Amino acid sequence: MNCISKEDVHKITSGQVIIDLVSIIKELVENSIDAGTGLLEITFREYGLESIEVIDHGTGISSADFTTVCLNHYTSKLVDFDDLARVNTLGFRGEALSAICAVADLEITTTNKSGSFKLSYTNMGELDQCQPIEHGLGTKVVVTNLFKSLPVRYKNLQKTIKTEFTKALQFLYNYVLIAPNIKFNINNVVGGKKRNLIITTGDNRVLDNFITLFGYKSIDGLNPVNLHNDLCKITGYISDTSIGKSRISKDRQFIYVNGRPVINKTLAKIVNDAYQMYNPQFPVFVLNFIIDTNDIDVNVTPDKLTVNVNVDIMELRDLFVGYFEHSNGSQSLSQTSISASRSKPTFNESSLRKSSLNKPSFSKFHPVHNLVQLLDSDIPFLSYNPHKEENDTRDENIDKMQNLYTKDLNAILVTKLNFNDMKIIGQFNLGFIITKLNDDLFIIDQHASDEKANYEQLMNSFKLENQRLMTPININLNVSERFQLDNHLIDLKGFKLNKNYQLTHLPVYKDQEFDETDFLELISTGKLTKIHKICAMKACRKSIMIGQHLNRSTMRKVIKGLSRLDKPWNCPHGRPTLRHLSKI
Ligand code: ADP
Ligand code: MG
Repeated sequence: MNCISKEDVHKITSGQVIIDLVSIIKELVENSIDAGTGLLEITFREYGLESIEVIDHGTGISSADFTTVCLNHYTSKLVDFDDLARVNTLGFRGEALSAICAVADLEITTTNKSGSFKLSYTNMGELDQCQPIEHGLGTKVVVTNLFKSLPVRYKNLQKTIKTEFTKALQFLYNYVLIAPNIKFNINNVVGGKKRNLIITTGDNRVLDNFITLFGYKSIDGLNPVNLHNDLCKITGYISDTSIGKSRISKDRQFIYVNGRPVINKTLAKIVNDAYQMYNPQFPVFVLNFIIDTNDIDVNVTPDKLTVNVNVDIMELRDLFVGYFEHSNGSQSLSQTSISASRSKPTFNESSLRKSSLNKPSFSKFHPVHNLVQLLDSDIPFLSYNPHKEENDTRDENIDKMQNLYTKDLNAILVTKLNFNDMKIIGQFNLGFIITKLNDDLFIIDQHASDEKANYEQLMNSFKLENQRLMTPININLNVSERFQLDNHLIDLKGFKLNKNYQLTHLPVYKDQEFDETDFLELISTGKLTKIHKICAMKACRKSIMIGQHLNRSTMRKVIKGLSRLDKPWNCPHGRPTLRHLSKI
């Protein structure tokens, strides 16, 4: 057995703190914000592959700290563990600069009381050189040769740099929106040409920054939020609930806890569920939850993006429900959904409502804790962008999956391959196929299963024609959207644009037309709901119906078919295809 050298251990563990371009940007920007800067000038060269430069007008680094800033676990923000409960800076673990040194070359220029200095560090974070230099206020950090010492990661970075860059840019939106008092100036230099991407005034107006990122129309219907209860205070903006002010995806939702951008599914769900009592779509929001530092735990993951909060979910939910009830344009979806929610105070009511769409005949067999689920479907890549649109049902499936693994030890796990081993017992009620797998009986919805098979086949072979517009349509796109278009990072599915980002061609499918709104959906989610709807409708029409008698070979075909599907667990409308009936 050998002991790994100190250098290698450092490289190995640092690779976990700094995993991509987003993490570098995140750490450098947070350091500048912690230093109280009023300006943030960020320059990517060749999308960050050549260098990443962050300039601030913060306090600077004092000369006494020059030798330690890049050493692991050296921080000026925390002295002992007890301080963690009171931490109000974005950083506190003292490992970011040290980790950057391990995976890249780092140079710092900083101005403090004694003057200005240019500092360079070794890969172990030790001070290598220190020279006096001319420099204005604050600190400049330049990172070059990112991941050069980790060949596999470097190759991967080269391949994915434009996607990484888009993610980093989108991640910066979090700070642009929470820190409107900071002047942002974000650039990318490609082939020696500098392109300005985001520029803000620092005039402390969040909505102005919203316009900078998403265009003029984006603030239409955004109302200020100022709520509080005993445990927390919430400030920011949220869409009003009237039709047309919401979005079809969660792509513009920004959550912060004490000014820190976070991933917190519970908080997001509370807000979305309350909103969906009045509007079935999703709100746009920028919400800062101000919570006593004793009631939060930010030290869950090294990136500090996951934050556990100790809040009363029901109280918080009621706060938002009350807010929407009184805000202009609120219209309850239906009296029943509201009163149902009142009598059953559960915060995942929207998912309950979804499942109530299930056919009553099938849900008789529904004990949810016995629900057999997926388990071999792909787990979505967790990106750094907490606001990335994720397929909702997929999310729920993962929640269920985690429930199965962690909470319900009696759960029965079924994989796609198991469909091939199921024995057919027979048809039930002209609507369901009863099957047996080892000691378990399952009930399979014949229509939902066949429908899903037809749906996946239609989706895979779906082709759109397109038609040229007489007059091109102007589209208001933000920088990252333009960047994605310029670099062909989105499958445009028949839409075409000219150099001025005007739509010149729209897709058509038979008598179905696609329009500007569909294009905006495609840009923000990568999907077109209309295609899904067309295929779901066609699939429904051509599938085996409830009430249809099935012979054994058709039943076998339906069951075997499930094993070949990408996601056999639900029909295109979300209804489950199979449930566990009992153990024999
Ligand atoms: P942390 O932010 O968790 O303290 P870092 O490794 O990110 O750890 O930074 C180490 C220390 O370097 C910080 O605690 C801070 O004192 C100093 N520092 C880093 N960047 C800056 C900056 N832009 N301006 C002033 N001080 C900085
Ligand atoms: Mg830091």
